[in-house]
Amino acid sequence: MVVTLSKDYFVESIKKIAEMIEKERNYLTKLDSDIGDGDHGINLSIGFREVTKRLSELNENTEDISSFLKKVGMTLLGKVGGASGPLYGSFFMKMGTDVKGKEVVTFEEFIKMIDNGVAAVEMRGKAQVGDKTMIDSLRPGADYLKESDPNGRELEIFKEFIEVLKQGAKNTDPLIAKKGRSLRLGERAIGHRDPGAESSYLIFKAFYESFQDSDEKNRIKNGESMR
Ligand SMILES: [Mg+2]
Repeated sequence: MVVTLSKDYFVESIKKIAEMIEKERNYLTKLDSDIGDGDHGINLSIGFREVTKRLSELNENTEDISSFLKKVGMTLLGKVGGASGPLYGSFFMKMGTDVKGKEVVTFEEFIKMIDNGVAAVEMRGKAQVGDKTMIDSLRPGADYLKESDPNGRELEIFKEFIEVLKQGAKNTDPLIAKKGRSLRLGERAIGHRDPGAESSYLIFKAFYESFQDSDEKNRIKNGESMR
């Protein structure tokens, strides 16, 4: 059975991300007040509240996954302040570059979408692994997916991808920042997690939970017993 992801999957994922952001708002803001300006959770919450408010409209007014995600990205870009607005905005806007016109994508295509999104963040932020940014979790995660052979193991691979992102976020703890506001802190940034690396992990954790839900639904639909 080829695992496919429908436009509904992406709509549900965005909902889950918005719920997660509300739950983790204070935590992300705390991380950012340790080494930044303390607005990361607040900024993401403002952005995703706006996306949630407009979600039905964004869904109904778009035909395919690519244009839906593009509208989500544009909404974030227009609403979110700080560095995270343009970065997450670019991520969602560029995710669908290679799947234009598709209402359903395969898991392989989904992997490419993630890589395209991460590449857009790299281009916009000009950051590399080790700079203490979102890229410290996103790049190893995208590479892990690209090197994986998900055929029949999609759910497991997705879970492992989340673990790679989580570890990537943890890896920012001992780093001195080379980008962003925490740059000026020098060695004082050591011991603090990068809030963007952590929110990137949490955003994909929401994508994963939404995947678990849709995988379960598919299995029930196909008469398979649940794992
Ligand atoms: Mg900030």
